[in-house]
Amino acid sequence: MRNNICVFCGASEGVNPTYAEHARNLGLVIATQGRRLVYGGGKKGLMGIVADAVLQAGGEVVGVIPERLVEAETAHRGLTKLEVVPDMHTRKARMAELADGFIALPGGIGTLEELFEIWTWGQIGYHNKPVGLLNVNSFYQPLNNFLQQVADQGFMRQDYLDTLHISDSPQTLLQQFDAYQAEHYDRWAK
Ligand code: AMP
Repeated sequence: MRNNICVFCGASEGVNPTYAEHARNLGLVIATQGRRLVYGGGKKGLMGIVADAVLQAGGEVVGVIPERLVEAETAHRGLTKLEVVPDMHTRKARMAELADGFIALPGGIGTLEELFEIWTWGQIGYHNKPVGLLNVNSFYQPLNNFLQQVADQGFMRQDYLDTLHISDSPQTLLQQFDAYQAEHYDRWAK
C-alpha cells in the first residue's frame, strides 16, 4: 500500500463549495484507509481543509512549509509534524521524498507548478511514483484535453500521458496508486 499521500491543492477555496467538500472527503478517505497526508503545511484554502479533515478523522499529517510562507500561508500548528524548510525548492524536494504518490485537488498556479514538476520528474526517471488528478466538478477536463493535444502533436508519449490517473473518486485514485507498477519510460524513444 502507498501509505504517504502528498496532496497539492489551492491556498484558496475556489468559488464553488463543492471544492471544499471534496477536499474534506479526500482527507477523510486518506485517514480512514490508514494513510498519512503530506502537504504544504498551510492553513489557508483547500490546504487547511484537507489537513483538518485528516486530523479530525484521527490520521497523521506532515506539513512542509518554507520559512517565507510561515506567516503568509499561516502555518498549521496542529499537525502531527510541521517541517519549516529554507525555500520552495527544498519544500518540493522534501514532499517528493516523503510521499509514495501525489494527488492534485483543484488549485491555482502553485498547485499546477507542483503537479507538473513531480510528473515531469517521473518522465525523466527521477522517481517512479504515481500521480493523479482528483477531477472535482470536471475542473481538470480542459487541462486533460490540452495534454491530449500535447501527446497528439508529438510532444509527449501517449503512454506517459496515460500514467496520469484522473478520477473524481479518491477511493479509485488510491486503489490505482496501490496497483501502480511504474514502467521505465524512455523519454527519447519514438
Ligand atoms: P495555489 O495553487 O496558487 O493556491 O498555491 C498552492 C500551493 O502551492 C501554496 O502552498 C503555494 O505556496 C504553493 N506554490 C506556489 N508557487 C509555488 C512554486 N513555484 N513552487 C512550489 N510551490 C508553490
